[in-house]
Amino acid sequence: MNRELTADVLVIGGGTAGFGAALASGRAGLQVRLIEAGSKIGGVMAFCPGMPWGAGLPVGRSIGGIFGELTARLSAMEPPAAELRPSVLENFGIEVIYDHETAVFTMFQMLEDAGVDVHLGTIATSPVMDGARIAAVECTDRRGPFTIRAAMVIDCSGDGDIAAKAGVPYTLGDAQGNMMGVTLSFMMTGADWAQVFAHDDPYFRREAAEGIAAGRLHPDLAKLYLMRGLHPGSVFCNSVHIRGVDGTDPGQVSRATQEGRRRCHQLADFLRQSVPGFEQARMSDLGPTVGVRETRRLEALYRITADDLAGATKFADGVVACDNPIDDVMRGQGAMIHDAIVGPGDYYTIPFRALVPRKLENLLFAGRLVCADPVAFASVRGMPQCMAMGQAVGTAAAQALAQAVPVQALDLPGLITALGAQGMNGIGGASLI
Ligand SMILES: Cc1cc2nc3c(=O)[nH]c(=O)nc-3n(C[C@H](O)[C@H](O)[C@H](O)COP(=O)(O)OP(=O)(O)OC[C@H]3O[C@@H](n4cnc5c(N)ncnc54)[C@H](O)[C@@H]3O)c2cc1C
Repeated sequence: MNRELTADVLVIGGGTAGFGAALASGRAGLQVRLIEAGSKIGGVMAFCPGMPWGAGLPVGRSIGGIFGELTARLSAMEPPAAELRPSVLENFGIEVIYDHETAVFTMFQMLEDAGVDVHLGTIATSPVMDGARIAAVECTDRRGPFTIRAAMVIDCSGDGDIAAKAGVPYTLGDAQGNMMGVTLSFMMTGADWAQVFAHDDPYFRREAAEGIAAGRLHPDLAKLYLMRGLHPGSVFCNSVHIRGVDGTDPGQVSRATQEGRRRCHQLADFLRQSVPGFEQARMSDLGPTVGVRETRRLEALYRITADDLAGATKFADGVVACDNPIDDVMRGQGAMIHDAIVGPGDYYTIPFRALVPRKLENLLFAGRLVCADPVAFASVRGMPQCMAMGQAVGTAAAQALAQAVPVQALDLPGLITALGAQGMNGIGGASLI
């Protein structure tokens, strides 16, 4: 017989957005189930261990909320499991560098403390519709199929399979269907920081060009993204990008992961042999799969545009501030760019309406499913922003259930007030500065 579970809120996907959503609705006193296909909380954060949280401190001030709380909790540990550092790359601001395992453990603990039922190794397969509502979601785990009946569904799956099957229109990539490159990351452990980072070019372009010319590196490795990890001697390598992969196709993701491993091993050998300071280092923390930046972006009440960002727009329903550059990675035959989008000392906000579908009454979404044009998307997708978007929809879900209204009819000033009470900064048009 099919198993059937119930929940007030069902969160699909345990990435940074799903973490924020489940925690916020759990803390609001609701019965929450978080289902995650993988074996770890974190999503892309778990697939690229050690990747810095960028843009959590636009203009140097924390966006607060769950992101601020998690950062403070990790930073207060002895020894500290997180540290704030200015990025060495152009146009990125202050980042949070953290111990990956401690962060993942702490996030899970926060979910447990909030009473969230976490189901790892569980995939949402299809929605069961009842008019303009999702009545239930069919899921499967190793014991077979089962159903979760929930009053509210929050899609934080990055790829939006359930929202798409429920009929929410979406775009995939840019106007030509090109999606950003996927990336396999790793760490080098035991490097001599003083030598490695004495380099005058943060992208190591001269060495990379020599490696490519000698056939030792793939031509897409023209810029090497190498950053100090949290622990002395560790270097995060966010360099191996694979173009033209559709992240909704498991076959393409599998092939890209193996190709990524090939290029990562090549790069690790190259660093040891040809870049001063890496002679005694070894590869560690190779990602279990490529990190996928972009697949579906869902249609919502509002679509964020590049003009909104360039105008440093602070929406009345803004739920998180951001000053990330346009961090566009090898879309089609494109290069890797990170051009500034707002002037120095300024920022924009992400409106809540970009997380609300037009028609379905009990669905919200957050994270990289956000409704944005391709240029704006390249900026809004940082992990702190995903966590905050999650916090906003988790709180909104609780309010919609308490008020017995469809998500489109939520009282937005009331939502902003609640988020402000949770310590989120620079929201609802208020100044972050
Ligand atoms: C290579 C790379 C480098 C990046 N660099 C940075 C950086 O330096 N700093 C920064 O802040 N941001 C960075 N980003 C952006 C950021 O990591 C992502 O935008 C963000 O993590 C997305 O979070 P999310 O929760 O929306 O989605 P994801 O992290 O993709 O999480 C979605 C989760 O849903 C699960 N899932 C999917 N479908 C289902 C289903 N049907 N049922 C159950 N579970 C499902 C997945 O397993 C996954 O765990 C980078 C992204 C990539 C890919």
